Amino acid sequence: MSAAEQAWENAGKQQHAYFLALRIERAAWLRRTRETLWDRWGGHCAICSCELPISHMTIDHICPKRHGGSDEIHNLRPLCKRCHEELNWHDQCLGALLLSWIVAHA
Ligand SMILES: [Zn+2]
Repeated sequence: MSAAEQAWENAGKQQHAYFLALRIERAAWLRRTRETLWDRWGGHCAICSCELPISHMTIDHICPKRHGGSDEIHNLRPLCKRCHEELNWHDQCLGALLLSWIVAHA
C-alpha cells in the first residue's frame, strides 16, 4: 500500500470515528435531556398534565428550531404523544392558512 493510500485509509477511519463519537454524544445528550425534563415536570405532560411515563414522553421545542429555537433545556418541554401531534397539526394548519392568505393577497 502506498503512503497516499495509507493516508486515505486513515482519514476514512478518523472520519468514521468522528461521526461515531458525534452519534454517541447526541444519544447521551438526548438521554440526559429526557431525564432532566421528565424530572422537572414531575413526570407530567406540559400541556394536559397527564401522567407521562418517560418511555412515552416526547420532547417539544417551545420555539421551533426552524424559527431559531435552541436545544437548551429552557426551550424544551415534555409532551404526551397526543398533545405533540395536536400541536404539530395546529402548526401545520396555521402555516397553510398563512400561506393561502399570502397567496390570496399577493
Ligand atoms: Zn398531553
